[in-house]
Amino acid sequence: MIITKEEVERIFASSSHQAEAVEALYRMVFPDYNDILKFQGFPEAGERLSRLIWDKFFEFDHTHHPEVMAGGRWMNNGFSTNKELGEWEVDILKVKKAMKERVFFRNFYQCPYDGAKWHDEWTCMCNDRCPVCDAEIEPYESEEIISPSTTDQARSKAHN
Ligand SMILES: [Zn+2]
Repeated sequence: MIITKEEVERIFASSSHQAEAVEALYRMVFPDYNDILKFQGFPEAGERLSRLIWDKFFEFDHTHHPEVMAGGRWMNNGFSTNKELGEWEVDILKVKKAMKERVFFRNFYQCPYDGAKWHDEWTCMCNDRCPVCDAEIEPYESEEIISPSTTDQARSKAHN
């Protein structure tokens, strides 16, 4: 993917701390950032993009945080430079992602009024509405399932 000079400038203009700018850059490269538990390896950036981000961190830190080491966060977490990429290109092929997993519950319900049976997946062992008579029913059985949050098939629901 390509990150433009304008996008980088916008990130630094709207961040108030190094960590925020680092996160915003990662979010731009990884749209699934919220579902990622940790990274192994670093994205690679083309030469001009890489230099621009470094310059921005130095400039940013001199303005906002003269007390910290300029660009320190980026030094530890930043994109590495790959001169073989396009000047404004970012490549994440070498990054391994560990995805977060969430526990869901598959809840089984049976309505005592009309005998309707159904099951559904929720983020809690919670009551559901009968599809036939709309009564609120407690699950008679729940099993724990672990599912990558990216599938997004389970809905979260507040306890009643
Ligand atoms: Zn019912």
